[in-house]
Amino acid sequence: MTSARIGIGTDVHRLVTGRTMWLAGLQWPDEEQGLEGHSDGDCAAHAIVDAVLGAAGLGDIGSHFGTGDPAWSGAAGVDFLVETARRLHEAGWSVGNVSVQVIGNRPKIGPRRDQAQRVLGDAVGGPVSVSATTTDGLGLTGRGEGIAAIATALIIPR
Ligand code: MG
Repeated sequence: MTSARIGIGTDVHRLVTGRTMWLAGLQWPDEEQGLEGHSDGDCAAHAIVDAVLGAAGLGDIGSHFGTGDPAWSGAAGVDFLVETARRLHEAGWSVGNVSVQVIGNRPKIGPRRDQAQRVLGDAVGGPVSVSATTTDGLGLTGRGEGIAAIATALIIPR
């Protein structure tokens, strides 16, 4: 019998002025900066994609949703998650659970945590926990140059 497997994913996107902020599956209308990227730049969603794909041994986000593919230009992080879940199921797996941590100064995740967990969980087809931390002003996230995310995923045979 095949047992459960785990995976890890990391992503970073640059903060730029003049872009809508999409993070953890949500739009953040009060933010003055957004995340740069070929897609919507949602590093939390992208880290989850890598964690899920990695757990299943299915490669990574670049091998499924390459920046050279115009089909995924401007795609929402949630769309990547839905398609990742479909490919995961096709390979004989389901999401057990996911934990993702956002690393950055803002936006403050706490007040919208439940909403983010619901949106990401619905997209990937399993429970998602969202946490957040800062880096005490240090590094690229501390200087406000970008936002990072780290995710782990547990997958179980279908
Ligand atoms: Mg990314």
